[in-house]
Amino acid sequence: MSCIFCKIAEGSIPSTAVYQDELCYAFSDIHPVSPVHILIIPREHFASLDDTTADDRDLLGHLLNTAAAIARDKGLGKGYRVVINTGEDGGQTVDHLHLHLLGGRPHHWPPG
Ligand code: AMP
Ligand code: ZN
Repeated sequence: MSCIFCKIAEGSIPSTAVYQDELCYAFSDIHPVSPVHILIIPREHFASLDDTTADDRDLLGHLLNTAAAIARDKGLGKGYRVVINTGEDGGQTVDHLHLHLLGGRPHHWPPG
């Protein structure tokens, strides 16, 4: 498996861990675009959100619950943004499903 995020989740590529459990791993983005920029990934490899099905709803819910829990833990009481870039038009650059948790500044709409 040559996937960089699979290697990060298994620990063979270093990262700054924020949270982990049996289903997911959360770590600091290496190029933060906000004061808080954390990536939350499933330990199981999915190329993108488009690679998931209804069978994955519990896992997808867990990823969202985890994002909210980390946001609370980081004190993001003013709000935050959770983003899942998907595919070429979505701006996805790493082909392993990941949630971006962005906080610590206002985020505008629409995004670029
Ligand atoms: P996306 O463009 O949605 O696919 O997001 C991929 C994210 O992964 C980007 O924000 C990158 O900065 C981040 N990233 C890439 N390589 C690493 C790494 N080794 N450790 C932490 N974050 C990374
Ligand atoms: Zn992977």
